[in-house]
Amino acid sequence: MPPRMYLKSSWSALTISDPAGAYSLNRYSKIAGITQQEPVPLQTFLKYSDWFQRQAVPDIDQSYVQTLRQDGKGFQLDMADGRNIKASRVVVASGVSSFAYIPEFARHLPANLASHSQEYSDFSQFSGNKVVVVGSGQSALESAALLHEAGAAVELIARGPVNWINRRLYNYTGPAKRIFYPPSDVGPPGVNWLVAFPLLFRLFPDKTRVRLDARAVRPAGAQWLRPRVEGHISITPNTSITNAVEQGQGVSLTLSDGTRREIDHVILGTGYQANIDALTFIDSALREQVQVHNGYPLLNEWFESSVPLLHFIGAPAWYTFGPLCRFVVGARVAARQIARHSTKIA
Ligand SMILES: Cc1cc2nc3c(=O)[nH]c(=O)nc-3n(C[C@H](O)[C@H](O)[C@H](O)COP(=O)(O)OP(=O)(O)OC[C@H]3O[C@@H](n4cnc5c(N)ncnc54)[C@H](O)[C@@H]3O)c2cc1C
Repeated sequence: MPPRMYLKSSWSALTISDPAGAYSLNRYSKIAGITQQEPVPLQTFLKYSDWFQRQAVPDIDQSYVQTLRQDGKGFQLDMADGRNIKASRVVVASGVSSFAYIPEFARHLPANLASHSQEYSDFSQFSGNKVVVVGSGQSALESAALLHEAGAAVELIARGPVNWINRRLYNYTGPAKRIFYPPSDVGPPGVNWLVAFPLLFRLFPDKTRVRLDARAVRPAGAQWLRPRVEGHISITPNTSITNAVEQGQGVSLTLSDGTRREIDHVILGTGYQANIDALTFIDSALREQVQVHNGYPLLNEWFESSVPLLHFIGAPAWYTFGPLCRFVVGARVAARQIARHSTKIA
């Protein structure tokens, strides 16, 4: 992520969970002499997570798993450095980067003409370029602002309207804000309480879960980003891109309103769509055994898939446990459930 990004989550939702609650963001900020501020700068969170890791999980084997396969009743992990590791239980917590969503119109374009917003920690290479950003969520809107600030001429094109999150009840209700916003703080008031308890969320019917999720994480930008976008970036809402062809050094886009754009590059702020088939480090024979719905593994209350002792947490778990799983705040329930399951059957 670009170093000058801010996190959309509020301060209370950025504590990484540990069993005793000893390594909270509040505690770190006291030790490091940092004052609580919102929006939380990415750098503050990165320093905190680095501190958390050194305190709570100092023993990390920093290498890549090239292949994860089943081995009798357990698993074997072939590591990128040549080692083979046996494990009786595996927790897949490999994040969102494999799930970057590339819309159909851009799939054939080369990387120098179209790329996903997650590719960049710095947009200075686009200074003086004409760039279209696709999407209307926080990533698209913040990428557009950063591109403009880096000297690009930016247009944002979105299928739907551009919405800004209204947090009046958070800003003006003082200590009572917790009535409207639980500390997990995912989704608008009302929906945020319904998604705050993933083990209960799991019990809702499929359709309700999907609807609640869509409402909780619908594309929208944080209010603090608004002045950096409006008046600086040309916005074309309710319009999709129907075709894209290479043209000279750039790309020509055809829009659903019949107009065209000739530009240097398209940045896809189109988010992520979890699908375990994108986790190619899991051997295909093992992936085939995992029961899925639209690519999402079906999980029991222990975040365990249909393959015993193979767990999935983070983005792949949302279909079962809801939108909290996509956020830092969702780590707590996943870690507790898996730890309980480990002691239950140890
Ligand atoms: C632009 C952006 C903004 C965000 N803002 C927020 C926010 O404000 N609040 C919030 O709560 N969340 C936010 N998120 C979501 C955030 O990514 C997750 O909440 C958090 O990072 C999830 O943690 P994780 O451990 O599941 O995944 P990650 O943090 O992505 O960690 C996954 C790890 O697995 C490693 N890995 C992957 N494959 C392998 C392999 N084969 N072998 C070994 N290691 C592997 C990766 O290298 C990585 O270190 C944001 C995400 C993005 C992209």
